[in-house]
Amino acid sequence: SGRLAPRMGMIGASPTAAISDTVRTLAASGVTVDNLGEGELDFETPAPIAEAGIAAIRAGLTKYTAVAGTTGLKDAIRAYFRQRNGLDFAQNEVIASCGAKQIIFNAFLATLDAGDEVIVPTPCWVSYPDMIRLAGGTPVLVPCHASNGWKLAPEDLAAAITPRTRWVILNSPNNPTGAVYPAAELGALCDVIAPHDNVMIMADDIYEAIVFDTTFATPAALRPALASRILTINGVSKSFSMTGWRLGYAGGPSWLIAALDTLQSQSTSNPSSISQDAARAALSGGVGFLDEWLPILRRRRAIVMDMVRTTPGLDAVLPEGAFYVFADVSGCLNRTTPSGQVLRTDVDFATYMLEAARVALVPGSAFRAPGHVRIAFGVDTDVLAACCARMHTACMALQ
Ligand code: PLP
Repeated sequence: SGRLAPRMGMIGASPTAAISDTVRTLAASGVTVDNLGEGELDFETPAPIAEAGIAAIRAGLTKYTAVAGTTGLKDAIRAYFRQRNGLDFAQNEVIASCGAKQIIFNAFLATLDAGDEVIVPTPCWVSYPDMIRLAGGTPVLVPCHASNGWKLAPEDLAAAITPRTRWVILNSPNNPTGAVYPAAELGALCDVIAPHDNVMIMADDIYEAIVFDTTFATPAALRPALASRILTINGVSKSFSMTGWRLGYAGGPSWLIAALDTLQSQSTSNPSSISQDAARAALSGGVGFLDEWLPILRRRRAIVMDMVRTTPGLDAVLPEGAFYVFADVSGCLNRTTPSGQVLRTDVDFATYMLEAARVALVPGSAFRAPGHVRIAFGVDTDVLAACCARMHTACMALQ
């Protein structure tokens, strides 16, 4: 009794757990903390989308659907891919799942054999390496550098490809760095991968709509000749502020989509029928609300960047997309807090921010980039400004 399967030993405890514990302890003692650690926007799901969900319940759309999603939703996904990304998929080349997260997980489960490698440019989203390991594969972490705008260098990608490589993950806009690959740079990475027939591209486009300075590009549209080896992943979580609805989708070769369908049919079945109808409304209703959201996010980005630039010991590359500033805090390390503690690591720094500034951040080590913290700016602008002021004060107090 109480015995876990060995696979549970393959995944590490989240480095964010310590921070979350401290948040809970502080909250229990009556100290409120502002959370700049969440990967979601504070905006309400746009009213017409939420209303579509309510209408779905009233219309009795509350039963099982086709595992891969309703025909109506799949048509809306295909139209969105066509209009926004210039991608053409047939009905059997798209699938809807319980978040992009389920698609990524199932794609690894469906394709990785023991010893198969997945190239993960770092800093990376926290879940990729653990998902790869759970599926029996080996994550091959390839560092990207702030000096290159946190973008993967083609020569570093080329050097990482081996006969065991099955996938390369390309996540633009990037979590946690906000880096966005312009078409030419993304195309150059595709060209490195192209000659390796066994290597597929996982394009994680979940932040596609949140772009400030560059134009979004996606591998399958740039290199149609490679389309049969590309899984293009997106979802409504970030673009439509619908994280809680749990609805992601993907377009790719029919053999892979069929495998994702089979895995889903034996695990979760269809994503929520209500969420599917709300997502259908979202994808077919256009993204007009972004005209309102993007200027707000741009203003918030400026607030965080101003704080970083005016605080000795902090530094950051301007994020061109998503809603994170990935700040280098190494200039604050090996310094002493007013209570006499020496900050050794990014986790120490994040803990100090929690205690001294009452701001929760995710340490960079969670994204495989120690010496940094991720500052999410998907929160109310006034709250964010107050958080930044407190963080600045806390940094200035270091000796
Ligand atoms: N990919 C990246 C890079 C993310 O940051 C996230 C969410 O934080 C996801 C995928 C998963 O999104 P969802 O499962 O909500 O669609």
